Amino acid sequence: MSRNADLQRRRDAAVARGVGHASQRYAARATNSEIWDVEGRRYIDFAGGIGVLNTGHRHPQVQAAIQKQLDAFVHSCFQVMPYEPYIELAEQLNARAPIAGAAKSLFVSTGAEAVENAVKIARAYTGRPGVIAFSGGFHGRTMMALALTGKVAPYKIGFGPFPAEVHHARFPHSWRGVGVDDALDDIERLFKHDIEPARVAAFVIEPVQGEGGFTVAPPEFLRALRALCDEHGILLIADEVQSGFARTGKLFAMEHYDVRADLITVAKSIGGGLPLAGVIGRAEVMDAPNVGGLGGTYGGNPVACAAALAVLQVIDNEDLLTRATRIGERVRALVGELQSEPRLGIGEIRGLGAMIAFALKVPGSVNTPDPDAAKALAARAAEMGLILLTCGVHSNAIRVLVPLTVEDKILDEGLGIMADALRAVRS
Ligand code: PMP
Repeated sequence: MSRNADLQRRRDAAVARGVGHASQRYAARATNSEIWDVEGRRYIDFAGGIGVLNTGHRHPQVQAAIQKQLDAFVHSCFQVMPYEPYIELAEQLNARAPIAGAAKSLFVSTGAEAVENAVKIARAYTGRPGVIAFSGGFHGRTMMALALTGKVAPYKIGFGPFPAEVHHARFPHSWRGVGVDDALDDIERLFKHDIEPARVAAFVIEPVQGEGGFTVAPPEFLRALRALCDEHGILLIADEVQSGFARTGKLFAMEHYDVRADLITVAKSIGGGLPLAGVIGRAEVMDAPNVGGLGGTYGGNPVACAAALAVLQVIDNEDLLTRATRIGERVRALVGELQSEPRLGIGEIRGLGAMIAFALKVPGSVNTPDPDAAKALAARAAEMGLILLTCGVHSNAIRVLVPLTVEDKILDEGLGIMADALRAVRS
């Protein structure tokens, strides 16, 4: 039995079934945008551990910062004996996040936890219970984050009841026939039929939906949400867990917009591979919860904070914002070429900067989602040495989350495999 097959057998016997896998190849080591499995096979990594590795696997500067902190101390708990890396990271993010006026930060360990805390903070500040989220959104797997998530299968099945006072409106998506007016109409209906605006604490929205398929919120929609917030005293929470940290060509995707969120959730690439997440927000809002109301044993672990400080430096030193834009152009150009071959069945190409996804449709159809083809493409690509992830409300999109530190040669090699794998799947 091969090493991968043996590990899969042990995994099946020892690990809960509910944790899904994009592949049954087991990781052994990785460098920048390449990863090797336990049998020595090399893969180009277009997944980055689901958008966690914008600065690549084991960036030397991030590794050095981690090592330095490991040699000092690994854990003290910020609530027991606080430490400088947490404070320095908060200072840097407060200065750089697109928040109006003075900002403050809180660190936790996972994206879901960041979302939970953003809702707690919004409720404490407004004294209101309601939260409005959007179809196709993904906010994590804890109970409130799941309640906010706007996709039932596979995330929500069997786990209810979820926390109350959570409502959904449609996320605008012109390709699917949902205009900005339709989405705003949904909100007006909620206000009329389900919850009065004076009881709504916050809207929670991804400026670019991640798991939902890299659908970009139209600027006029975020402007309209901001206007509703200002009119009714509601807070705007931007979930930037997947869209953050240079992926879209800006440090935060919200910088592409001329409106400001009150709170921003961050995670994934902020920690360069270590579990770190946080909420950054208007100081006055962030200070609403009582002392002791926020925190957690591991939140803002010193090693993770040290890694995050190095990640910010790498983004600056290597000008990863410009690099993200260039990578995005390259991916878009290649996918655009493939789109012109009708038999390949590429529908909409979506995204911002290097956060690019393309939908697969049944060839010859106007826009019938083809999730089987997306699954087959990811499987075929893995056989050919490329790790690809699917996404989308209909699970029919392929997303590219290649490290922004990828060398041109490897990016082109990966894109070549992606094209060959798609041709093979459609032959
Ligand atoms: N929000 C968004 C936008 C995400 O993409 C994710 C993870 N895919 C989460 C929240 C949850 O993050 P985590 O898995 O770290 O809990």
